[in-house]
Amino acid sequence: MRRLLAALATVFVFAALPLGPAQAQEATCSRPTSDAVALYIISNQSPRQSQAYWWGTTDLTIGIQAAPNVDPDDYAAVQRAIHTWQTAIDECLGGAVTLTYVPAQPGSRARTDIVVHLVPGAGGNFFAGRAECGPSGCNNVLVSTTSPPGQPGDDGVAEYELWAVEGIALHEIGHALGLGHATNMESTDLMAYGWANSSFGRTPVISQCDVDALAYVWAWAMQGAEPMRPQALTYACS
Ligand SMILES: [Zn+2]
Repeated sequence: MRRLLAALATVFVFAALPLGPAQAQEATCSRPTSDAVALYIISNQSPRQSQAYWWGTTDLTIGIQAAPNVDPDDYAAVQRAIHTWQTAIDECLGGAVTLTYVPAQPGSRARTDIVVHLVPGAGGNFFAGRAECGPSGCNNVLVSTTSPPGQPGDDGVAEYELWAVEGIALHEIGHALGLGHATNMESTDLMAYGWANSSFGRTPVISQCDVDALAYVWAWAMQGAEPMRPQALTYACS
């Protein structure tokens, strides 16, 4: 668990992008504030992935693809994370966007827009969670249930506590929905790493800045306009 901090890896090539004016669009809900200064808009962080991490549709689907040996409690933790995001999207984006959970069918692959792969040991020493998105969706959102082996002080592979599994899923789904990291990574905002150590001990919440940034990403949908990619590299938390 102590290495979760270094393990929620998402690697980007930063590029100089024009900073367009932020569209005035506030989230239609109230959430706890966080100590994040600003959030990166993930679709603008890598020119290689210019069509990734941004959705031109408003009826997203999400499913779970779990390894056979996954603990049902870990599975339930990811389901809770999905439900938490569903509630936030319902309440905070003015009803303009939906996230529909499609339960897995036995023996068949998940074919949703966002697929969360729940795999013990995914990422090895490199990461505990990772959201890989491409032009056709985010069907490689990886969530591990075990901490990376071989870390100093670790006695081998350790199971993440359930709050951490839920937190990793929340964080990675946040990426899939369009949120990047906080510009101050020591923040305990869901989209930073400050919560990701064993002493935090509880699942991070979706903050006001998280939902405000999401409202910025989805401003076009909330305003009933044609799909339009956000222009800014960052969204300043107010
Ligand atoms: Zn991340």
